[in-house]
Amino acid sequence: MITAIDQRSIDQITAGKVVVTLAMAVKELVENSIDSGASSISIQLDNYGLDGFSVTDNGSGIDEQDFELVARKYTTSKLKSFEDLDSIETLGFRGEALGSLCAMARVEITTNTQPAKSGHTLIFNEDGGILEKRVSPSPKGTTVKITDLFRTAPVRRKDFERHYKNEYTKMVNLIQAYALVCPIKLQVENNTKGRKIAAIQSQGETMDKRIAAVFGISALKGLVPVNLKTRVFDLEGYISEPVFGKGRSGTDRQLLYVNSRPATLPKVQKTINAAYQLSNSTEYPFFVLNLRLDPHTFDVNLSADKRTLLLHDESAILENLQISLGEFFDSSGHNVPRSSRP
Ligand code: ADP
Ligand code: MG
Repeated sequence: MITAIDQRSIDQITAGKVVVTLAMAVKELVENSIDSGASSISIQLDNYGLDGFSVTDNGSGIDEQDFELVARKYTTSKLKSFEDLDSIETLGFRGEALGSLCAMARVEITTNTQPAKSGHTLIFNEDGGILEKRVSPSPKGTTVKITDLFRTAPVRRKDFERHYKNEYTKMVNLIQAYALVCPIKLQVENNTKGRKIAAIQSQGETMDKRIAAVFGISALKGLVPVNLKTRVFDLEGYISEPVFGKGRSGTDRQLLYVNSRPATLPKVQKTINAAYQLSNSTEYPFFVLNLRLDPHTFDVNLSADKRTLLLHDESAILENLQISLGEFFDSSGHNVPRSSRP
């Protein structure tokens, strides 16, 4: 017999796809902070996130008139119709994150739009409805505080408790991608056993400064700036110079973006590696590369984490990438000719 699923179960099922891990929960909040125009974002975890975490920004804040809808499912200030998705420039657009977090955890938001006035603290129920609202003095911006992550998904909670250090590391890796691309102050700190440990402390107008802040100053050694313009895209960022022996043994530290949006692009990654390996046979480059595309030429609405993109003109992009990177490596003067290799 076929029957309709009740609304609460639907909410749990759909929320479970957005907030799968600690990393995805933190990422959604960081994206909201970036979208709010913040120049500073602080992520604080208590005991690796097991006891909760908060994301604080100095962005726009949330208007009091939006409080009723802010944590409901499919409510957003970023998208009005499906057509708007064709030219979306914000990181969020589906209005799912806060609603999903409410279904999965306890959510408290403190927000203020005007520095001259005091702000509000809101506590939400599972459906994203307001349980409690009080006036609270706070600076301009927003703090979203999450506790009891996965309280409504016991199997996931158990898994988190078992692998919390691993989950924490995955979160740091994911947030690094945002720290590298955003010209803002971004920090991640873990408070555990009475000690505060900084995992990310990034700041800097330019990408080289941010790479140094995230990976240490020595990471810049052997990197060259990339600034390529082609018919279909611009490519900017940093990549290892293909001096024989200066590459890496694996494909970690390969960060790709489309219009500053962190993205997983296996074919683009493969093409970059192949172009690099023409000059440096077996190794892999370290790179942080931002592909600039016309916003109408890709689709971001493919996966719950919005990292899988559909590039409409993928074959032209790959072809141009191969050619322009080949020329770039040839002209950078750092190439080791194949014949002179050991
Ligand atoms: P989306 O980001 O897709 O719009 P969310 O559920 O993540 O959906 O957020 C819902 C809305 O809440 C956003 O559209 C935005 O208006 C508001 N919002 C959320 N976080 C913040 C923040 N840190 N600062 C300002 N506004 C926020
Ligand atoms: Mg969002």
